Amino acid sequence: MHSRTDTIQSSAEALRYPWENHPGPDQVVEVMPGVLWVRLKLPFRLNHVNIYLLADGEGWTMVDSGFGNEESIAAWTALFEGPLAHIKVTRLIVTHSHPDHVGLAGWIVERFSCPLHMSQVEYLQSVYHQNRGTEERRNAQRLFFRRHGMDENLTDKLLGRGQDYLKRVSILPPSYRRISHGDEISIGTRRFKVITGGGHALDQVMLYCAADKLFLSADQVLSKISPNVSVWAVEPGSIWPHWRASPPRCPMTSSCCPATACRFTD
Ligand SMILES: [Zn+2]
Repeated sequence: MHSRTDTIQSSAEALRYPWENHPGPDQVVEVMPGVLWVRLKLPFRLNHVNIYLLADGEGWTMVDSGFGNEESIAAWTALFEGPLAHIKVTRLIVTHSHPDHVGLAGWIVERFSCPLHMSQVEYLQSVYHQNRGTEERRNAQRLFFRRHGMDENLTDKLLGRGQDYLKRVSILPPSYRRISHGDEISIGTRRFKVITGGGHALDQVMLYCAADKLFLSADQVLSKISPNVSVWAVEPGSIWPHWRASPPRCPMTSSCCPATACRFTD
């Protein structure tokens, strides 16, 4: 009988990583027909985010937009003038409100005049983040951090970092189209089921195509690392029940495309 450790090891060994190298900043990789993979740099320890483009009739659906800084805009501009010159983005789906995903939504929507699709909670969370920099909110966060034992110096650093959200996102489009858990959407010839999960974000969108066993997992299921699950001052109760509630929604899959390197299972 296998021990728990054996089970975990054998599960990990079952994963295959079909690409030895990730795409460089000026490159695009075709994951499967009609699914393109782009990787943009991030100025964090987690140093990249994966973006996927799905063939969608005459156009393409982009899943996530990248971090809202000048370097990402320069990277996209080079790609749209280079290997993606033939691409017209006709729909943008943003999985959640973190700045490496929603950061350039406004820029992409304006460049291609395409609609933005998000879950209602994640869109409203983005609106909240863009407008939360009031003194009252900063004081509430300061009290929350100090109550949990954080020293003054680290509290100041974290509060300063949190306000950077406004510098990391382009202006959010003033309207969006709602996608919800359980929706079925057509993207080109593929049918995707919309799955949402809590824990890492409030209502993060994932897409699953059963016919191709293709799962775009965003930050909910990552490769080699576990997602960040944080408790914030605005909701100081435990967030774990939300996280525990979400994994059973994830489908069994043979091809998983997370926000870090692509992974395959046997
Ligand atoms: Zn995230």
